[in-house]
Amino acid sequence: MSPAHPNEALEQLRRECLECRRCGLAETRNSVVFGEGDPKAKLVVIGEGPGADEDQSGRPFVGRSGQLLTKILASIGFRREEVFICNIVKCRPPSNRNPMRDEIEACLPWLERQLGLIGPKAVLLLGKVAANTILRNTLPLGAMRGKAWRWEGRDCFVTYHPAALLRNPNWKRGCWEDVQQLRRHYDTITGTEANRENEKEQSAS
Ligand code: SF4
Repeated sequence: MSPAHPNEALEQLRRECLECRRCGLAETRNSVVFGEGDPKAKLVVIGEGPGADEDQSGRPFVGRSGQLLTKILASIGFRREEVFICNIVKCRPPSNRNPMRDEIEACLPWLERQLGLIGPKAVLLLGKVAANTILRNTLPLGAMRGKAWRWEGRDCFVTYHPAALLRNPNWKRGCWEDVQQLRRHYDTITGTEANRENEKEQSAS
């Protein structure tokens, strides 16, 4: 018998999602990649869709892109386990093509229900597909980076998808600036900064 999940409602949703056949991607997937992380994370990271490694393992961002994402998060003081990582579509589009509009629309209710249960304060959107989908626009990535967007009561930040950074390492500097901005904003809206100051004062007294 598997151990009790810290958030039974999210676990129940995951079990439902694993059976999903709402779009054509169900025909070619090996796994439904529901997402993973802290079920009460204040930061949720959303990518586009699973790749080959993720489809095989059933876990999000585990290939080279995933290793880079782990480093990006570490650069702003987050461990993977303390955020929640997921994708716009939960099943791999064949040959890593972009998910199609009907596939995205079929899958979005899963993401919306996930976020409703997790209740993050901030969202990091990786790449143009994720950002255009959540922010409901068709802007280029460059026009969406560098500012906070409000979506369903959450503050969203946009940066490059790690797969794009692997192809274009000269974009890493811009990504680093984006996530630094996210971290400052996150600290402000969650009171993390104040907590850190209090801890410093207490340890000094
Ligand atoms: S991509 Fe989403 S909607 Fe399509 S089958 Fe997978 S879980 Fe269901």
